[in-house]
Amino acid sequence: MTVGVLALQGAFIEHEQLLRRLGQDVVQVRLPQQLSGIDRLIIPGGESTTIGKLMVAYNLLEPIRERARQEMPIWGTCAGMILLAKEITEGRPAGQPALALMDITARRNAFGRQLDSFEADVPVAEVGVEPFPAVFIRAPLIEKVRGDTRVLGTLTDGRIVAARQGRLLATAFHPELSGDDRLHRYFLDM
Ligand code: GLN
Repeated sequence: MTVGVLALQGAFIEHEQLLRRLGQDVVQVRLPQQLSGIDRLIIPGGESTTIGKLMVAYNLLEPIRERARQEMPIWGTCAGMILLAKEITEGRPAGQPALALMDITARRNAFGRQLDSFEADVPVAEVGVEPFPAVFIRAPLIEKVRGDTRVLGTLTDGRIVAARQGRLLATAFHPELSGDDRLHRYFLDM
C-alpha cells in the first residue's frame, strides 16, 4: 500500500515522516499522474486558499474527485478538511476552489485571534479510550454534518472537530504534530 500526501503547500513533511515511522510507503503528490500510484491520500494543513489555487494550477481537482468516486480513502486535516467540505461558511473568497466531496460544513478560522493556536484533549472513541492530544492552528470547525457523516470527536463544549463519511475522514486539528499516531493508523485501516 502506498500513501500519497498532497505536497503543494503546508505541513506535508510531518505527515510523511509519521507515516514512514509506521513503515509505510509514502509519495509526495504534486502531479495528476502520481494519483494512479497511490492507495490513499492525505491533504495536509496549511492555507486552504493557497492549496486550492495550486490544485487548480496543477490540474489536480478533477483527478482527485475521480479517485474519490472510486472510493479511495482521503483524509483532510485542517486546511485539507476545509478543501474536503461541500460547504464553507466563513471567509471563503469568491470563486475559491475546493474539492467539495464531504457532507460537512466547515467554518474557517473558527477560533478567532485570541485562540489562534491551542492544544486540547479530544476524545475519539474509535481510536481508543485515551483522548487524542490535538493541536489546533488557526483551525476550522465542523459546523454541521449531513447525510451519513458520523461525528468522531468533539471539544468539551460539543463543537465538532473530527468526522467520517465512508472513506472520507476530516479532522480540524493537526494530528501529525502531537506524536500520537493513532489517527494515522486508523486512516490506514479505513
Ligand atoms: N486557517 C487555515 C485556512 O483557512 C487553516 C489552518 C491550518 O491548516 N492549520 O486554510
